[in-house]
Parts: sequence; structure tokens; C-alpha cells
Amino acid sequence: MFHTILCPVDTAEPGLETKALSVARQLAAESGASITLLAVVPDMPVMAAEYLPADFHANQMSEAEQTLKDLAVKSDLPQDKVQTRVRLGRPYHEILEEAEASHADLIVMASHRPRLATYLLGSNAAHVVRHAQCSVMALRPEAA
Ligand code: ADP
Repeated sequence: MFHTILCPVDTAEPGLETKALSVARQLAAESGASITLLAVVPDMPVMAAEYLPADFHANQMSEAEQTLKDLAVKSDLPQDKVQTRVRLGRPYHEILEEAEASHADLIVMASHRPRLATYLLGSNAAHVVRHAQCSVMALRPEAA
């Protein structure tokens, strides 16, 4: 049914991804799909970048890579079918780019409940749902 499932993970919000990774694991098991875990390290505006150490982004990216690898183990994802990717940029933009580059046919991502601010500002999940060429599953948290 699916060949390549992309799971974008916000490593700054631990726990949000739990349900998405569990659903991705089940879908991958049913269809033999591979899973790509993606973290995007937000790029800093040029003015802020001046004040950061030269290796700031490189360090953030390798930390994110390690977090994804740990999540893959913790979430019991099939080790031979999972890969991790880290990109630098705006999250929704890089999610869409990675979906194209990896020929993803499904994106599974956790999404917050919509709030007024979300309607006004937009959100990563909304951008991805609107612009992705492939199917997108946006998983809301369980009702409290
Ligand atoms: P937000 O407004 O915080 O983007 P959404 O509910 O629209 O909230 O989307 C949250 C989802 O967006 C996360 O579960 C994750 O899939 C994706 N996402 C957000 N930030 C990142 C990031 N830095 N790297 C990868 N994915 C991200």
C-alpha cells in the first residue's frame, strides 16, 4: 500500500511524535514500507547567526540525528527499514522537500489541536497538508 513513509519529528517537543511513530510502524509492517525520520534544525536569521559559534548548526544537527536514532530504537521501528535525515531550514519547507527527494507516498505527523493563533499564522502541519504531493496523515493528540 505504501512504499516510503516520511515522519517529521520536532525534537524540541519530545513526546508529541509518539502516536505518529506508532501508526507509522503499523503501516510499515502491513505494507513493507520504509520509514524516514526527519528533523529540521531551524535556520537562524543572518543577524542572529553573527553571534553564534561557527559550529552551532553542525552541533544542533548532530544532536538531532542522535535523537532520531534513539527514537527509532525506543519506538521499536524496524532497524533495516528505517533511516534518519536532518535538514537545516524552515520545517514545513524542508518536510516538503524531503518528501519529494525521498519519493515519500505518505507523510505521518503529529499535529496540535488548532488554536486561533494557528489559524492566523498557519502551522507546519497545515502547510504540509496543503502543499504535499502525497497523502498526509496529521494525528491530533488524544482528547484530554
Ligand atoms: P506547529 O505549529 O508547532 O508546527 P503543528 O501541529 O502544525 O504544530 O505541527 C507539528 C508537527 O510539525 C510535528 O509533529 C512535526 O511533525 C512537524 N514539525 C514541526 N517542527 C519540526 C521540525 N523542526 N522538524 C521536523 N518536523 C517538525
